[in-house]
Amino acid sequence: MIPAPFEYARATSVDDAISLLSSSDGAKLLAGGHSLVPAMRLRVARPKMLVDIGRLRDLSYVREEGDGVAIGALTRHHDVAASELLRALCPIVATAAEQIGDPQVRHMGTIGGSVAHADPAGDMPSVLLALDAQFVVSGTGGIRTIEARDLFTSLFETSLLPDEVLTEIRVPRATSGWSFVKFNRRAQDWALVGVAAVATPSGAQVALSNMGLTPIRAGGVEEELIRAADPARAAERASEGTSPPSDAFASDGYRRRVVEVLVRRALEETLS
Ligand code: FAD
Repeated sequence: MIPAPFEYARATSVDDAISLLSSSDGAKLLAGGHSLVPAMRLRVARPKMLVDIGRLRDLSYVREEGDGVAIGALTRHHDVAASELLRALCPIVATAAEQIGDPQVRHMGTIGGSVAHADPAGDMPSVLLALDAQFVVSGTGGIRTIEARDLFTSLFETSLLPDEVLTEIRVPRATSGWSFVKFNRRAQDWALVGVAAVATPSGAQVALSNMGLTPIRAGGVEEELIRAADPARAAERASEGTSPPSDAFASDGYRRRVVEVLVRRALEETLS
């Protein structure tokens, strides 16, 4: 379908993007366009104005910062996957980026777009939730940092304000044990269910894709690990507190069964 009419403006800086966003009710940022444009073509999204930030090159970087890694929001999935620094310090992020869609999607889509779009079936949101990532945002109210637990609020919704631009994602060093498991019917499909796990001194932090309205932390599993349960025992609680969808690809019951298997496998890999 053809999108509803909209105005278009290309931002020259983050400040310019913020002022364009606040100049129009119903303006939306355009980054890689690989989620927003399909939604506009289906007329699920009808922004009055698109503020194009896709050419803000200074928001595309991966660099060491403190004890972790800072990733510019405009960094394309391909560049995240190819980053030697991420491979060395936080390999789960690069590994997940490598499995997003196909090469065309990975060369256009951005990590910031994936986060802000907040698709519960997306790969990067659950990885960043498992890592307790931080999100740096700029808006008319200044700069603030949002914790991953506070970002994803509902289906395709985040705690970002309408005039805010996500500028940076910060992830901790995570090399002691991790796993990213994505279950799909065909290579390059979205996850029917996905699991991200990162080892901690007392067990592991575990997050799930496509098991509810938002990416979800598997609290029951994490609790079992603190009590020193083995992966199989901990994984029995994987679907606790979830509300997976039933759709043309899988029923909710199927997803609940699959998530137990995937969490067990992810924990075996993470803790081995
Ligand atoms: P856009 O589409 O430009 O924007 C998406 C939303 O985020 C919009 O609401 C926009 O306003 C907002 N936004 C963008 N950047 C910012 C910012 N810096 N600050 C604030 N708001 C912002 N994803 C997966 O995880 N796994 C997959 O397997 C997968 N497969 C795909 C297959 C296909 C065929 C396609 C088309 C997409 C697929 N995707 C998949 C989605 C892909 O990862 C998108 O790139 C991503 O979801 C959105 O990134 P974008 O840069 O294209 O954002």
